[in-house]
Amino acid sequence: MASKKIGWIGLGNMGTPMVKNLLKAGFEVTVYNRTAAKAAPLQEAGAKLAVSPAALWEVAEIIITMVADDAALQQIHQGAEGLLAGARSGATVIDMSTVSPATSRELAAKLAAKGVNYLDAPVAGSVKPAELGQLVIMVGGKKEVYESAVPIFEKLGKAQFYLGQQGAGNNAKLAINTLLAFNMQGLAESVLFASEHGISPEAMLGIIGESALANAITKMKTANILQANYQPAFALKHLAKDLRLAQGQGLHTPGGEAMHDSYQQALAQGWGEKDISAIFPFLMGEKA
Ligand code: NAP
Repeated sequence: MASKKIGWIGLGNMGTPMVKNLLKAGFEVTVYNRTAAKAAPLQEAGAKLAVSPAALWEVAEIIITMVADDAALQQIHQGAEGLLAGARSGATVIDMSTVSPATSRELAAKLAAKGVNYLDAPVAGSVKPAELGQLVIMVGGKKEVYESAVPIFEKLGKAQFYLGQQGAGNNAKLAINTLLAFNMQGLAESVLFASEHGISPEAMLGIIGESALANAITKMKTANILQANYQPAFALKHLAKDLRLAQGQGLHTPGGEAMHDSYQQALAQGWGEKDISAIFPFLMGEKA
């Protein structure tokens, strides 16, 4: 996979900074996004535009996808203009979205029938790590395909882990996002409990921040809570989706069930488009 030509699908919060890093690293990137207007800033950064997913095969042998969920990933593969339609034997699709292992295995099999390799390579790390090229990448698929993709992963992340066959990366991603849900919910519940006893969120977040319980996520989300700024870096609807996928993979531990239910309720009450830190106002009983 020596080619420097990459096709990219999905220019959301994550896809856009990731493409910028590949452009900076000297890759020729052609992008497609369902909402074409989001591609304009990338054109200024040197990306070319494609009119459909299938059109990317005309310019690239490696196509990376970074879209919302299973339905979105299926949609960009299906139909006359989908990735499956134009697939080129010997090429590679790398999906970096968070989707179910079943979807990865299904698409891997359909692409394999056309001679195309497939890696599931979801990421840990939000917008800031994406901007800094500091993501953690969890990969499933054939080892030799993974090895050939490492030069790309190195420009997007600080660490990559090869975990086994297709779907292994997805399972690791669902595991780490379960921990993320615990982190956010735990932070929110601690601050909520403290405020019910007259301790301000400022004081409690300060205590947590200085304690052994502080971590990158609690520190990153402290400002969101104090400023009640829930602009999404990682939308709550995506974490709710990941917890549903984890349940689909058999996560039925006491905490796992509680996280699933809490984030689905927050989603049902309209917090889905806000950042995951909006689990705090949800638990406070605020209206979205
Ligand atoms: P996002 O900002 O919501 O962007 C979603 C992307 O998917 C957009 O490009 C969107 O296109 C596209 N899309 C959605 N539905 C589609 C459909 N039916 N057909 C074609 N394209 C569709 O999401 P994000 O935050 O970048 O996250 C992308 C993936 O990475 C998700 O699976 C998420 O769980 C995962 N992830 C996110 C973070 C994070 O912190 N944000 C961290 C790790 C992993 P439009 O522009 O047309 O809507």
